[in-house]
Amino acid sequence: MSAPRPRADLLVVGQGLAGTCLAWELERAGIPFEIVDAGHGPAASLAAAGIINPITGRRLVKSWRIDALRPAARAFYQELESVLGVPLWRDLRVRRQFADERERRVLAEKRAKGELAPFAGADLASGDGFWIEDAARVDLPGLLAAARARWLASGHLRSATSSSLATETERYDLVIDCRGLAGAREEAFSFVPWEFSKGEMLEIAVTGLAPDEIINGGHWILPVAEGLAWVGATHQPGVVQPSTTSEGRAALEASARTLLGGKEFAVTGHRAGVRVNLPDKHPAAGRHPLQARFGVINGLGAKGALHAPALARQWVNHVTEGVPFDAEVEVGRFFGRSAAQASSR
Ligand SMILES: Cc1cc2nc3c(=O)[nH]c(=O)nc-3n(C[C@H](O)[C@H](O)[C@H](O)COP(=O)(O)OP(=O)(O)OC[C@H]3O[C@@H](n4cnc5c(N)ncnc54)[C@H](O)[C@@H]3O)c2cc1C
Repeated sequence: MSAPRPRADLLVVGQGLAGTCLAWELERAGIPFEIVDAGHGPAASLAAAGIINPITGRRLVKSWRIDALRPAARAFYQELESVLGVPLWRDLRVRRQFADERERRVLAEKRAKGELAPFAGADLASGDGFWIEDAARVDLPGLLAAARARWLASGHLRSATSSSLATETERYDLVIDCRGLAGAREEAFSFVPWEFSKGEMLEIAVTGLAPDEIINGGHWILPVAEGLAWVGATHQPGVVQPSTTSEGRAALEASARTLLGGKEFAVTGHRAGVRVNLPDKHPAAGRHPLQARFGVINGLGAKGALHAPALARQWVNHVTEGVPFDAEVEVGRFFGRSAAQASSR
């Protein structure tokens, strides 16, 4: 008979991407923990493509800290692949199509200054865009399902809805809130200027796509399996209901028609989720500035796959050695600041 698990003083609330990465770092560090999760129903992580794209947006901006974060994320997910026995990480490149002449100029200017190195690759043969190298995709639904099964079997995970952080501290010394949208409504962290953006994505049946290429021109098309791709994602700032809409579907179908150049496809799925963002575009992690038994990882925005492993590692370094959180992600950076101050960088 195996030895009983030591009683855990630390509770992770929510097993979306943030909670999964945190719980895995705790497990590999040998720190006793438990997780409570309500069952993934509204999890943004299930609607997320899990794309890591080094150059994003109309202004072609290199993702914050991508040079250091990408290799660390790759090692993290590849280790989890072997532990969980499921494929999670896929190296990809992005076929980035210009929306207009302005984007072509922006690329030329940034390339001349070396701002996009080493990720901006060759021009497309068609001349209407360029290759983004070293992108990747993490299978987030696959990760959540496999990790849930592991921790249910080991007794680490309780399938339940947590009523509040305060109630949980009656039993645990440290409670780390990884509830995504639900966590952003938590009273204790109401000093954080959370922002929201609903996103929708489609699953389509389509053949003949290059398996290792994301097509990106405003929206994107991600091949996920033979004959299957995802099309995403819409952005609706301020919308907090994760519901699918006919308008969202129509917009994504129109983009798919353009990006696929007339190739036939059929819609086989439609999902929605809400991204939690922060005005300075960085995520949030750390202890509550006044109630040290409350902690958080949230505000992963549209880049959770890139950021979550590093934030989880910071938590473990903090718990084991008292290492302070990086000031640029520390949740306390918003404490006592007005909304206007919070958005200035
Ligand atoms: C359409 C769309 C596309 C996206 N595409 C990408 C992408 O390509 N790349 C990328 O990196 N990011 C992408 N994102 C962003 C990504 O989804 C998020 O950054 C990330 O998944 C957030 O994870 P989370 O763990 O913070 O929250 P969630 O995934 O929402 O997880 C929260 C968890 O907490 C649980 N929970 C909630 N309340 C309770 C409670 N009271 N008790 C117990 N458990 C509770 C929920 O059940 C859930 O499992 C996308 C988002 C959307 C909406």
